[in-house]
Amino acid sequence: MTGAVIALVVKEPTLAIPLSFVSHFVCDAIPHFGVKDDPANGDSEVFSKKFNIILITDFLLAVSIMALLGFYLFPEHKWVIWFSMIAAAIPDITNVYHRIYLERYKNVPYEPDKHFTSRIQWSSTYKGAYVEAAWFALMAYIIFLNYS
Ligand SMILES: [Zn+2]
Repeated sequence: MTGAVIALVVKEPTLAIPLSFVSHFVCDAIPHFGVKDDPANGDSEVFSKKFNIILITDFLLAVSIMALLGFYLFPEHKWVIWFSMIAAAIPDITNVYHRIYLERYKNVPYEPDKHFTSRIQWSSTYKGAYVEAAWFALMAYIIFLNYS
């Protein structure tokens, strides 16, 4: 949603796409939703059934919003919206390497404190869902303002 807002406000792809990428880290630094993740103490819900359901739901929601914005609401800006939304999500793809390839497949324990992307997420809790809901509403409102 943040990537879509940046695309609609900035419009220029060469600026909107890199800004969207950077926005991921800004959003990571804002308190947000997250499951328990303390692998050193065997207390991680990453890839638990609950986590996987949330992950898939989140992904399907994101793709649905991409389709809604690009095909129906802003077809004239669809490419900058889509690339900005993808750019905003890309930093999480590093998790595929760390949490799936290394941790799951190669049995290399994940140490959150050693990773920039984990350290900036100083507040990632269940209660962060309220912050995310408010952020989502704000982004939806800005998107609505751009629709005429
Ligand atoms: Zn992230």
